[in-house]
Amino acid sequence: MTFLETLRAIVGTDHVLTHQLDGYEMDWRGLYRGRALAVALPGSTDQVCAVVAACSAARVAIVPQGGNTGLVGGAVPDQSGRQVLLNLRRMNRVRDLDEKNLTLTVEAGCVLEAVQERAAAAGLLFPLSLAAEGSCTIGGNLASNAGGTQVLRYGNARELCLGLEVVTPDGRVWSGLSGLRKDHSGYDLRQLYIGSEGTLGVITAATLRLFPPPASTMTAWISVPCAGAAIELLSLAQKQLGPTLTGFEIMGREAVALADKHFPQLRAPDAQAYPWHVVLEQSSHLLEATERPQFETMLEAGFERALIADAIVAESAEQAKRLWHVREAIPLAQAKEGANLKHDVSVPISRIPEFLEAVEGALRAALPDIRLVLLGHVGDGNLHYNVQAPEGDTGGAYFARHGDWITRQVYDAVDACGGSFSAEHGVGAFKTDELAHRKDAVALDLMQRIKAALDPLHLMNPGRVLKAVPVDVG
Ligand SMILES: Cc1cc2nc3c(=O)[nH]c(=O)nc-3n(C[C@H](O)[C@H](O)[C@H](O)COP(=O)(O)OP(=O)(O)OC[C@H]3O[C@@H](n4cnc5c(N)ncnc54)[C@H](O)[C@@H]3O)c2cc1C
Repeated sequence: MTFLETLRAIVGTDHVLTHQLDGYEMDWRGLYRGRALAVALPGSTDQVCAVVAACSAARVAIVPQGGNTGLVGGAVPDQSGRQVLLNLRRMNRVRDLDEKNLTLTVEAGCVLEAVQERAAAAGLLFPLSLAAEGSCTIGGNLASNAGGTQVLRYGNARELCLGLEVVTPDGRVWSGLSGLRKDHSGYDLRQLYIGSEGTLGVITAATLRLFPPPASTMTAWISVPCAGAAIELLSLAQKQLGPTLTGFEIMGREAVALADKHFPQLRAPDAQAYPWHVVLEQSSHLLEATERPQFETMLEAGFERALIADAIVAESAEQAKRLWHVREAIPLAQAKEGANLKHDVSVPISRIPEFLEAVEGALRAALPDIRLVLLGHVGDGNLHYNVQAPEGDTGGAYFARHGDWITRQVYDAVDACGGSFSAEHGVGAFKTDELAHRKDAVALDLMQRIKAALDPLHLMNPGRVLKAVPVDVG
């Protein structure tokens, strides 16, 4: 039996694809295009085990893939034509909903939006929320430890997961779908697999934390005079609203203007009048009538301290959704506008103004026409320091000339501020050089040892996160 015949025997002939693989082989940003030996679409954990075991026996590398919305080139194969893409989208069943334990157990290929909807149908909330939620999968969210817009209140994907089922690189299953909130029985393997970007094993199912949904939500679009004012306002809101502060997103003038240009139907509030804008969200188990006075007091204090230049408070859920859509439209508008350079970084919240000033100063001094499309989950210290080529420039040539230099300015400033060059999108193929160059040497050594111990043949997503190492496969 050939290797492809073995794959077909495991998952069924219809679920091994070898032609017209564009949507699988190219990443969401169109930056990475590989060539797969085949795309395998398993329908069960047993099938994943069998595929992984077959790959291990044949020394064929595996690239796990969910919705292929990752932004760091981690879910597409390399150019060799010898890797198997293991796409989990057929594994999309809900295995269990335990309303008393507040947990939902789903297979890895469940689309995030479907998980949110399943929780909502039971009167509960699964709070992970990001602009790709209509296509990304829970397996991908956990493998990349996704963040999104509610991290301030609920944490990253990591904090929202109580248990995992994982197929190991030698084809065994680790069944860790416990749903326990306390389980200190040795090393925490769940946390090791979360964020490992498919390099240590295949996540096949997860037990997720649910929450009672808020009774009321208030959303405001706030324009601020400078980034420092936004940070002061965050501090004020945290003190006055406490844990009910759910979201605090920052957007620069050029970012909002770009969303307005490509999505005018969203009617973005006037971007040009102010340099920075914030979407602030409060949610509470108390009714709006009870919460609103405190919310308004916080806004008044912001105006009095000149932290707020203008504010619109959404008067309906529909209006709040529209304000959020403006924020979420920014990455989509960037894609429509043309080539761009993205930097997903984090710095301590208190140092954000210093970081922004340093990078903007360096970039504008050398490249006065560069467009800074800045946004971020600033409540988590996470900035998307994105840049677009000057107006009218198609972008490719501009970034071929200046891209590396721009990126160095951003990451050096991140280092100087004690931050991280990779906040929530992961390392993938995109940042392996940065990891090798900027990660603490001891941490890097420990990571390499973990990889070698769990995946000695280096067949799980090789060259992602850690650089590929030549392996004697015997
Ligand atoms: C418009 C847009 C907005 C976004 N906004 C955010 C945001 O706000 N916050 C944020 O954190 N991210 C954001 N992202 C990126 C984000 O990481 C992904 O959208 C999502 O988490 C990835 O899920 P996916 O199913 O598409 O994974 P994929 O892209 O398919 O894979 C991502 C990584 O996980 C691995 N992987 C996938 N499935 C598995 C599995 N079952 N087992 C093991 N490894 C697996 C892959 O090999 C790859 O390394 C955004 C992306 C887009 C396109």
